[in-house]
Amino acid sequence: MKRIIFILKLSTATLLAACQNTEKPVHSTIQKNQTMSNFTVNKTEEEWKKTLSEEQYHILREKGTERPNTGKYNMHFEKGKYTCAACGYELFDSDNKFESHCGWPSFDNEIGNGRIKKQTDYSLGMARTEILCGKCGGHLGHIFDDGPTKTGLRYCVNSLSLEFKSANDTLK
Ligand code: FE
Repeated sequence: MKRIIFILKLSTATLLAACQNTEKPVHSTIQKNQTMSNFTVNKTEEEWKKTLSEEQYHILREKGTERPNTGKYNMHFEKGKYTCAACGYELFDSDNKFESHCGWPSFDNEIGNGRIKKQTDYSLGMARTEILCGKCGGHLGHIFDDGPTKTGLRYCVNSLSLEFKSANDTLK
């Protein structure tokens, strides 16, 4: 009898573990779809897959994070503007970029109020503020209030979420 109870308990535990594994992506898909409807640029995930590289898709649409000190804009300090890599919306000016030594491109402000949306992110067992492109909902990174400049803000952004437009190019 004890053996049967043990087997039953084991089966239940396995089933629950399986549910937890499948629950996560379903939950994030629902969140993504709910988020998408709030943005003016709306594409299906299939459409995004066609326009973004695999790495960009993972960061922008699946809320991934690039490894620190690997992004092409981490130590990039040319004059210009940074746009959303998914939809081209202007998000940051190089004047607001600073070296935070955290391994990701950091800004102390966004170009204009409302260009970047904020929402609470409870992943990793803590509450953080996620930042998203205000036009397409692409995941950019997170914002923290430990910035060293006057604004006190640190927008910590994945390079893969950004494209750079040089000030020299804009003058042409
Ligand atoms: Fe965008």
